[in-house]
Amino acid sequence: MLTHEIEVKTLRHDMMLDITADVVRAVAASGVTHGAAIVYCPHTTGAITINENADPDVTNDMLQQLGKMVPWNQPFYAHDEGNSAAHVKSSMFGCSETIPIVDGKLLLGTWQGIYFCEFDGPRPRRAIVQILDGGQPA
Ligand code: ZN
Repeated sequence: MLTHEIEVKTLRHDMMLDITADVVRAVAASGVTHGAAIVYCPHTTGAITINENADPDVTNDMLQQLGKMVPWNQPFYAHDEGNSAAHVKSSMFGCSETIPIVDGKLLLGTWQGIYFCEFDGPRPRRAIVQILDGGQPA
């Protein structure tokens, strides 16, 4: 299977959930040794990003700073759903990341992890992993 779906259950209004292990499993199951993995978020108030997964203070600091940069309430927000801040944060982080696969492994740096970002939770979510098969190196 080259397309995998990861079920994500977010537990807070704003959070960054480490899904690296799920992506690693998807790559292993694909049997692809050289190529790339696209990790994609099909939600308009979520995102995918790569950042440090060693110290949890990093993601906490990032979420706090994001909250300061994009306040939940603004007098000019007109969107009826009332979650304009979540839409802004989603586009700031973006809905996908692409990670090279070499020798069957994701080329993540030592301190890098792949995160599903929730900006309007908690709710059930999903992330899509699309594995691109680059064939064998010449
Ligand atoms: Zn909305």
